[in-house]
Amino acid sequence: MKLSFLGAAETVTGSKYLVETGGRRILVDCGLFQGLKKLRDRNWRSLSVPPESLDAVVLTHAHIDHTGYLPRLVDRGFDGPVFCTTATEDLLGILLPDAGYLQEEEAKYANKRGFSKHDPAEPLYTQQDARACLRSLKKVAFEETFQPVDGIDVRFHRAGHILGAAWIELFGEDHRLVFSGDIGRPNDPLMFPPKPIRQADTLVVESTYGDRMHPEVDVRDDIADIVGRTIERGGVVIIPAFAVGRSQLLMYYITELIQAGRLPDVPVYLNSPMAVDVTDLYRRHIGDHRLDERACREMCQAVRLVQDVEESKSLNALDEPAIIISASGMATGGRVIHHIKTYAPVAKHTILFAGYQAAGTRGEAMVNGASQVKIHGEYVPIRAQVEDLGALSAHADYRELGDWLDGLERAPESVFLTHGELTAADAQRRHFRDRFGWDCIIPELDQTVVLDG
Ligand SMILES: [Zn+2]
Repeated sequence: MKLSFLGAAETVTGSKYLVETGGRRILVDCGLFQGLKKLRDRNWRSLSVPPESLDAVVLTHAHIDHTGYLPRLVDRGFDGPVFCTTATEDLLGILLPDAGYLQEEEAKYANKRGFSKHDPAEPLYTQQDARACLRSLKKVAFEETFQPVDGIDVRFHRAGHILGAAWIELFGEDHRLVFSGDIGRPNDPLMFPPKPIRQADTLVVESTYGDRMHPEVDVRDDIADIVGRTIERGGVVIIPAFAVGRSQLLMYYITELIQAGRLPDVPVYLNSPMAVDVTDLYRRHIGDHRLDERACREMCQAVRLVQDVEESKSLNALDEPAIIISASGMATGGRVIHHIKTYAPVAKHTILFAGYQAAGTRGEAMVNGASQVKIHGEYVPIRAQVEDLGALSAHADYRELGDWLDGLERAPESVFLTHGELTAADAQRRHFRDRFGWDCIIPELDQTVVLDG
């Protein structure tokens, strides 16, 4: 069995792992590189193996950095099945066409400005490509064994993190290979904790927060404090949030704080058509998360769900305190960009980030104290308060990951740390050496390792 790291090596995006066994090829995750231009350029390069030579794709979860390359893969000749959980399939029906739309917009913008090397600039893929690739999806229930190719048994286990997220166990040639995907936190109010892991010969583990421990605070206190102070001075709180998971968690916390009287009853808007659709999926997948039907309904009733473009624009002229949750989470695009342009130059407002900010994004720049960011070709001064809800992560930190791995009955033969910036991965390598005595490997991009024999 051979394993190649075609993405998420020494970086957090572009997750793609190639497993080759008995002349068959399986791709685990099919993610898009995001963030720095150097990384995004990799989306345009050919894979090290021809797409038509792959027999199957298996997905851990719906996030674009794990699935966003799929339309391109299918467009370039892959015609096999793509296995995922039921909720992942539903989420991809929303996320992939949106990713195609963003690619088209980016190409259009590049053409207008004339800054593309290609003339005319082409999108990596279109909305139509994204819709076409949805036909390849094959849903499988958690804990059900299936064979993406003959001789390989695969199972999805709950990973927490977001709706439908799984860690993957792959068994063949007497070898058990486990991919963590993204592992959620043990006490997430919306998602169940990750299912414990028992056995692995080879382990591929994420290391997003390999160098960080989430603060031991109740994130409600932070939200009540930051949002409360902004409202008191008459400001608007803009929360850039990922459409899947983060937006719903923020809705949950904010409505709870308002109901408990810890925040004044100001209007709360969810201004992201995609997040509105995803919120609806939470209502349809009762049992895949901790909220019951009533809790879901109450959460949605307390928040104004904005679909309409005109209403979205009207949110840039508010003169009363309000809370606006809007995508994208790293301020790389979407409606939240317009809100930041409007509200960031005025000191009484607050921009509250609520998740991981990848290198090279506006979110990262602002969280690190940038005095201005470039939006639509012009520099926007940042005078508003900028805060980062570090405790609101959807990823386990290195200690929580260690707790999950504590379930292993014996040490794996090899452990690879991926899905983390190099400093984070290296810190996690040291933590795991101290805690478990393991000698973890941080693979390089396109590195291939032989797992047995
Ligand atoms: Zn994820």
